[in-house]
Amino acid sequence: MRDLDFPIFKTKSDVYKKFDLTDVNSRQEYFEYKAGPEIKKLKEYLKTNTFIAYLMGKKSSGKGTYAKMFAEVVDKDKIAHFSIGDMIRSFDEVVKNPEKKKELVSFLEKNYRGYMPLEKIMEALEGRSTKVLLPSELILALAKREIAKLGKKAIFIDGFPRDLDQVSYSLFFRDLIGYRDDPDVFILIDVPTSVIDERVKTRAICPLCNTSRSFKLFPTKNVEYDKNAPEGSPKFYLLCDNSACSSVQSGKPARLVTKEGDNLGIEPIRERLNKDEMLIKEAYKLQGIPKVLFRNTIPVAKVKETADDYEITPEFSYTFDEKENKVATHEKPWEVKDDEGNLSNSLMPPPVVVSLIKQLVAALDL
Ligand SMILES: [Zn+2]
Repeated sequence: MRDLDFPIFKTKSDVYKKFDLTDVNSRQEYFEYKAGPEIKKLKEYLKTNTFIAYLMGKKSSGKGTYAKMFAEVVDKDKIAHFSIGDMIRSFDEVVKNPEKKKELVSFLEKNYRGYMPLEKIMEALEGRSTKVLLPSELILALAKREIAKLGKKAIFIDGFPRDLDQVSYSLFFRDLIGYRDDPDVFILIDVPTSVIDERVKTRAICPLCNTSRSFKLFPTKNVEYDKNAPEGSPKFYLLCDNSACSSVQSGKPARLVTKEGDNLGIEPIRERLNKDEMLIKEAYKLQGIPKVLFRNTIPVAKVKETADDYEITPEFSYTFDEKENKVATHEKPWEVKDDEGNLSNSLMPPPVVVSLIKQLVAALDL
């Protein structure tokens, strides 16, 4: 990220051992190999303690992926990923249900304090007025209610602070939700805009199970060739390989589809990305609260000394072998420019999570 110094974290091991980071079991061994002692410390800590981590990264930077992987590796019963965006969206269902809506209104009558009248807030939640921005006081009251439902857990808060005034609120957030004595930490993620752009442009989604992949950066196991594809549209496509997907279970894996507008990349969300960047820069300046900084890319010139080859995101391309009637997959390290214009490689999510684990252990002083 321009103007901010996100250190490069070394995940390269002294003794080379290869792991397949797309395989669940191999990935588990990888984490044990790269961060075994730190994972043990965190597990021990979480038996009787919690923490609050504010996860800040640009939209579509993979915050949720990193937080969920962290929880899976460390202890998914003791760690929750709490997304403010998901919470707001969940109220779409609440306001449609008369019973639940009544409950919500009565909760807000007792707990919401702020400038905007409750009537206006309900209009916004019901989608009747899209012009009204939900005020921070409301977000806080609702987050407090939802977090109480999770039980006492370490929480990764995703999507808060979302506005400048909320950066200051976040300093007192742990008091507000009754976590007064638990440590809190800001986690800032640096993912170059070009990485987000390429992920959006190449993503494909299973219409049945919503599995999201990329034909260029993260294909499924089955790539097929469509010789009758109309001129100008892609000839290769992905088949779902999620074992929990109904199409896979029935033996007819669904074809992953692209979403309308994805070919525009980040253009439709550019304003949001700029705002997210401004928020990260604001949080970066905060004093008196520990900060963990981690990054998605490493300049190509420094990769050899800091990461193992299999930790780098590959770029996939395909050719069709007419004679064999088979798709051949080609793989090479993906190269992309970071926000400063350095030619860089992008890390797979697991090494990013390794750096998160190690830095969090240090931030919590374990
Ligand atoms: Zn599927």
